[in-house]
Order: sequence, then structure tokens, then C-alpha cells
Amino acid sequence: MLAQLQPEEPQKIQKIVALFGQSFEQLAAILSSFAQPAYRAKQLWHALYQQRVTHLDQIATFPMQLRHQMAAAGYSIGLPEIAQVFTSADGTERYLIACAGGETVETVWMPNGDGGESGDGSEYDDPAQGANTQEPYQRATICISSQVGCAVNCHFCLTAKLGMQRNLTAGEIAGQVVAVLNRHQVRIGRDRINLVFMGMGEPFLNYDAFMDAARLLVAGIGIPESRMTVSTSGILPGIERFAAEAVRPRLALSLNAPNDAIRAAIMPITRKWNIAALLTALRAVPLRPRERLTFEYVLLGGINDRLGDARELAQLARNSGLDVKVNLIVWNPGPEIPYQMPQSEDVAAFQQHLIAAGVPTYIRRPRGRDIYAACGQLKRTTTP
Ligand code: SAH
Ligand code: SF4
Repeated sequence: MLAQLQPEEPQKIQKIVALFGQSFEQLAAILSSFAQPAYRAKQLWHALYQQRVTHLDQIATFPMQLRHQMAAAGYSIGLPEIAQVFTSADGTERYLIACAGGETVETVWMPNGDGGESGDGSEYDDPAQGANTQEPYQRATICISSQVGCAVNCHFCLTAKLGMQRNLTAGEIAGQVVAVLNRHQVRIGRDRINLVFMGMGEPFLNYDAFMDAARLLVAGIGIPESRMTVSTSGILPGIERFAAEAVRPRLALSLNAPNDAIRAAIMPITRKWNIAALLTALRAVPLRPRERLTFEYVLLGGINDRLGDARELAQLARNSGLDVKVNLIVWNPGPEIPYQMPQSEDVAAFQQHLIAAGVPTYIRRPRGRDIYAACGQLKRTTTP
């Protein structure tokens, strides 16, 4: 629920309540407070999540009087708005999306995916999989944020430099998706959309809002959970809760190192939950047919990109007892971050070693480098 004070009129403080982001039960309760019949909740649900309206006036099934009454009582649709757009030469669009309170978060639209987000990589560059070849894109991936900033403090990550500012609400998380779907006039059910919870923040440290958003995106917007991937830096209690969820996106662990020593040096959170404990928790997460767990691995030159690291990672993956694939990500540099990009021949050798050792391994294409498209980069390079 978004609550916003209007400082310019302190004597007439009115609460603005966003309808977008509310569950069906919450919408039903709101409408019953206006003495409306039960079917109005279905109409509102349909308008918010299937029609994706942006103003109360667009709820054509509601009598004008009801729309006015709701507006007067402080209700609005309350979708987050795209405040700035940065377009890359490669078609990637990166947005700063404005939330209540004036903060912005980053959301990214990748018209042809990034080569690593699909379950097994099989859809990548396969024109036969496109929903409609007349369209400017056949399938797209949207990368969304779960928090403003992040508390985890991975040393290679720009979002970490922002510190933790606040959690996003479920409406703000799902709203990023809808703002982008509306911008590109995406037709759910015809166009193929993948979602990755890989923008700013740690989804498993904002667990309830993340899961509420995922459920809304499935049940309301209509994006299958098998087309969503949530990435975690390894928040053990979050992984344990996630294993028991009925609606469950695919899961990726940002492993980033083949052993605890290297991981702790770049991800201090390893000292709280080590790799062995994370693997135990991951073994309890059920997988759907043909689904694999993903290990994300950001390659940092000279730190974790040597052949010995690839060998150790292959062993770890094979001995983990998990059905796993590896997504290699070339580190995107940023100001004041003391790491080096890996050499391209080292990236290729690392991938080849893993594949030869029987571990399916993909390289995530760097997208939108010209618009600072790495995690946290846009905000860090456009705000003081
Ligand atoms: N907090 C979650 C999700 C957001 S980060 C997590 O850490 O998994 C999403 C991915 O971006 C992670 O795999 C992270 O390791 C990676 N990443 C962070 N900073 C990066 C950078 N500068 N270059 C490339 N990948 C980066
Ligand atoms: Fe947070 Fe993920 Fe960045 Fe680590 S990599 S600081 S968990 S956003």
C-alpha cells in the first residue's frame, strides 16, 4: 500500500492508496467498504491486472459515480511511472522508475533476452520459438528490482554502494513489470516475456513483498512462474521458505566463486551462510520437469576466472547432487570498484572447461554497456 503525505497542504492531509498491488481479497474488502456487490472485485481485478489500466477513469465497468467516490476517498491506480529512459544501441532499454517517496529503481527491458535467463538456454536465438515473427521482438526479458539499494555488500556490485534504502512493496515490484509491458504494448499470452528478479536489491531480504509480487504476476498479469527467475546471493532462510512455496519462480544462486575462501573475499555474506549450507538448502527446492537450478558466476579478472577455479567449480557442481547449469557473467566495471574485467580468452576457456566436464554453461551477453546496464550502474551514474 502506498501512503503519501502532501506536505503543501498540511491541514488537509489525505492518504493516497494505490489499488495496483492489492490482492483479490484486499480489493474485495475495499469495494465492500463502498457497499458494492461482490462482482465489482472481479471487475477491478480484471481492469488492474489484465487490462492494465493506469487511471481510475479507465475502469469502464465501474459506474462513473463509484470512480469519483473512490478518487475522493484517496484511491488511485498507483502504478510506478517511468521517470527516465536510456536506450542502448543493442536495443536494451533501461529505466529509472519513480516510486512513492521520490526514490527511483532500475528496470531493464532486453528485447531479445540476454542469452542466459531461460531455463536451459534452448530458446535462445531460436526463431521458431517466437510468438509472432512480424513483431519487432519475438521474446523479451524484463529485469526488475526488489529493493532500493541493497544491504548485502558484495564487493563487486554497484548496488551495494548505495546501501540499503528501503524495501519495495509488492505493487512497486509487480508495477515495474506493468509499466514496461504498457510501454511496449505487450500482449500477454501472445508475446513471450521472461522476468528476472535480478535488478537492485536482494529479493530474499524482502521476501513477503517479492512473493506477493510473484503471485500477482502469475495470477493477475498472466506470466507463468516458469518464465520467472529469482536470483539470490544466498540468504539461507529465504531459500528454505522458498522451497515450500506453491507458486515458485525458477531459482538462481549467485555463487560467484568455487570455494568459501574466494567467495568470502568478494561476498562477505559467505561467512554467515557458507556454500555447503546453501547447497543443502537448495537440494530441498523442488524442480519442475526439465528445470535446472542456475549458478550465476560473475567473472572477475584474476580473482575467480582461472582454469583452476573452473575445475573446482565443475567438481562442486557435479558433486552437489543438484541439477544445475552455470551462467557466466562478465563483470561490468563501475567507479570505485577495484576489480578487473576478465580477458575474453579466459571467459571462453572457463566455459569450455565446464562444458567438457559435463556442466551446461552459458555466457550471459553483456547488454546495454553503453547505457551503464550493469546491476546498479544506472542509478549510480545518474544520481549524486
Ligand atoms: N541480489 C541478488 C539479485 C540482484 S544481483 C543477487 O545477488 O543474486 C543480480 C546478479 O548480478 C547477481 O548474480 C550478481 O552477482 C550480478 N552482478 C552484480 N554486480 C555486477 C556487475 N558489476 N557486473 C556483472 N554482474 C553483476
Ligand atoms: Fe545486493 Fe545482489 Fe548486489 Fe550482492 S550482488 S550487493 S546481493 S544486489
